[in-house]
Amino acid sequence: MPNQKIPFVTKEQVEQIVKTYPTPFHIYDEKAIRENARGLKAAFSWNKGFKEYFAVKATPNPYLMQILREEGVGVDCSSLTELMLSDVVGFHGKEIMFSSNVTPKEDFKLASDLGAIINFDDLTHVDYYADIAPFAETMSCRYNPGGDFTMGNRIMDTPKDAKYGMTRSQIKEAFLKMKAYGVKHFGIHAFLASNTTDNGYYPKLASILFELAVWLKKETGVHVAFINLSGGVGVPYLPDAPKSDINAIGEGVRKAFEEILVPADMGDVAIYTELGRYMLAPYGGVVAKVIHHKHIWKEYVGLDACAVNLMRPAMYGAYHHITVLGKENAPADGIYDVTGGLCENNDKFAIDRPLPKTEVGDYVFIHDTGAHGHSMGYNYNGKLRSAELLLCEDGSVKQIRRAETPADYFATLDLDAFKK
Ligand SMILES: *Cc1c(COP(=O)(O)O)cnc(C)c1O
Repeated sequence: MPNQKIPFVTKEQVEQIVKTYPTPFHIYDEKAIRENARGLKAAFSWNKGFKEYFAVKATPNPYLMQILREEGVGVDCSSLTELMLSDVVGFHGKEIMFSSNVTPKEDFKLASDLGAIINFDDLTHVDYYADIAPFAETMSCRYNPGGDFTMGNRIMDTPKDAKYGMTRSQIKEAFLKMKAYGVKHFGIHAFLASNTTDNGYYPKLASILFELAVWLKKETGVHVAFINLSGGVGVPYLPDAPKSDINAIGEGVRKAFEEILVPADMGDVAIYTELGRYMLAPYGGVVAKVIHHKHIWKEYVGLDACAVNLMRPAMYGAYHHITVLGKENAPADGIYDVTGGLCENNDKFAIDRPLPKTEVGDYVFIHDTGAHGHSMGYNYNGKLRSAELLLCEDGSVKQIRRAETPADYFATLDLDAFKK
């Protein structure tokens, strides 16, 4: 079978793990996370100031954030609690990027107190912020070029319909305002297409932002210190989808840098990224157990996991590959809907999916759930979110978040008031 996805745990390993940690659970592969982070760093090593700021929302687990920190990665936060978590893990000052939108006062205040680099989403936020906290030496603005974002003749996304960022003239006005408020070093940020495995995405985005930087420097006289390419580098969810080539991406950005920034005497600009998915998605999986098998008009495999553990298929119709552990080499001669137990018919991890003959008691591995997986979880139907486990480099397994209990679910209610 070409391009088959191989789970990073075997059936035998899972049978050991479930003796301590019952299914369902998310599990992450430390070794692969570290190797991937090093690969990203190497691909951008041509740029002296390069730094990745991991998008915390993708997987807000302090153990994983700590691993990334050890690999030289910072954090990108967009809420109060993400800032608090980053602070606890030990991220300080310029290791924290704060790329928020519709930002409440207290969030700006904490970002400022932590010395984070604040990235304004809107022109009006500059004066709003002035009443909350002092301006830092280094601050940033988010750009929205409007129109469609195209690669070749393909429309990748539609910035004109996106709520984020400022127009070209607004960003100029924001820079002048911020300069008057005492800001000395400026950053420019944009996020124009999500989950893009086209190696041309970052280079194209970089060209747009580099040209904007040259123009802004000319118009406002400010020092542009960094360009933040944000997130969006994709991963192949489908077994035969193309994989992003991070070296080609780094090289493409370098070319644009040499062509646009260096001649403008801006060769000192640092490149930042805020990748979430690319950093973790392929290095996490959900392990669940088949607890029911139902045959009506279709064939159903029912898991002990449901959409509260992994929402992407229900929310976006996203594809997640599924391996039935121990049947990796069996022919996929059954066709199943793989479902959870929510009272919602969209609670399906897969629809009409060819799988090997699957029975009650089988363990399945749902691939590529390391980012925007556990973190998107919710509590609909009173279902509880699962544990998160780490497959450590030495092969041991550590629980890095326990599963929720009914007490967690009821914690915001005063049930005692109803007890007679
Ligand atoms: C979500 C987000 C990211 C990360 O996006 P990925 O698709 O996971 O790479 C980065 N920056 C901002 C501002 C985001 O909102």
